[in-house]
Amino acid sequence: MNHAQLVALDHQHTLQTYGRFDVDIDHGKGATLWDLAGRKYIDFTSGIGVCSVGYGNETWAKAIYDQALTLGHISNLFYSQPYAQLANTLCERTGMAAAFFGNSGAEANEGLIKLARKYSFGQYGKGRSTILTLKNSFHGRTITTLTATGQDVFHQYFFPFMEGFRYADANDLDSVKAQGGDDVCAVLVELVQGEGGVLPLESAFVQGLAQLCAEKDWLLLVDEVQTGVGRTGTLFAFQQYGVSPDAVSFAKGIAGGLPMGGFLVNEKCRPVLGPGTHASTFGGNPICSAAARAVLDILDEDALKAVTEKGNYLRAGIEKLQKKSIGATRGLGLMIGVEVKEGYTNKALAAQLIENGLLVLTAGPALRLLPPLTITKDEMDQGLAILDRVLE
Ligand SMILES: *Cc1c(COP(=O)(O)O)cnc(C)c1O
Repeated sequence: MNHAQLVALDHQHTLQTYGRFDVDIDHGKGATLWDLAGRKYIDFTSGIGVCSVGYGNETWAKAIYDQALTLGHISNLFYSQPYAQLANTLCERTGMAAAFFGNSGAEANEGLIKLARKYSFGQYGKGRSTILTLKNSFHGRTITTLTATGQDVFHQYFFPFMEGFRYADANDLDSVKAQGGDDVCAVLVELVQGEGGVLPLESAFVQGLAQLCAEKDWLLLVDEVQTGVGRTGTLFAFQQYGVSPDAVSFAKGIAGGLPMGGFLVNEKCRPVLGPGTHASTFGGNPICSAAARAVLDILDEDALKAVTEKGNYLRAGIEKLQKKSIGATRGLGLMIGVEVKEGYTNKALAAQLIENGLLVLTAGPALRLLPPLTITKDEMDQGLAILDRVLE
């Protein structure tokens, strides 16, 4: 099949919910991809922060193959090793107390919302169910997580949205306090707003928020669907913010490309969701769990340290280019936002880069880079060379 045939086939019977670039991807190795015509692309996207250990990773592929041959699926009504082992590894490496596994980021955040409301119901009874989120946040595409998302553009068409959410300004504790009240049970935040434009929250704000939550007994819920699993240079971003969330969600990078999400809770929240209160047919599926265990093995402390170094290297390399179209960089680890200067649009720049062999993402008004965490220096240099050539 060639590119034109694939595009025609795709348009024949798939819902066109994605504004796709006019590029197909056929296969990959490391952080390098090839299309059907054999053209090469350097990947600064890893899906959208999903392929954390790169393409064609042998350790990851072998874990999946071995688990598929051993036990591909079993209902969560039975015990199975991969689920329990993955939960233990995650808790050992984060200090959290217990894990629940589902299949996506939105579903993981739905779990956080259910957890907060049930915790509050158990402690205080009805009427304390509002969750504060931040403006410019993104929490998912289900009706409830769309409502949680603090951007008006997402609150269209699909009425009625849910009750029980209010939005505060990021990095403004007074705004959070102003939105507070007797009806509040939790605060849900991304520590680096991803879709909103790769905007890290200020450390003082996050610590103030944690203190406020402790005073009010609001649960501090952290959405680490994008920032989690090594992306920012620590296994979870909260580990470098000096706060202990009550619960934290994850998804994108956890299983290196297989669909998986979930959340971790602390000791206080461990008893909240008991038998019958929350479930998922596929959640923690043995193959996804085995893949996630391989990802966590690969992302050991040295690999995480390297994520920070690679992020610094890429950002310095980009800023050295001194292009008219792009400006300063921001972010944490290998979650990088690049300012797009006035007179240029991120969509047009991204399309140009992609046509010329460098896959990049956009977020808010910025360019967004989420390379595989295992990207090599040579691949980063090839990507920087494309940026240099194309943005001339
Ligand atoms: C991607 C993302 C989600 C939604 O994840 P899905 O797997 O697409 O449901 C939620 N929160 C954040 C911060 C994300 O980046």
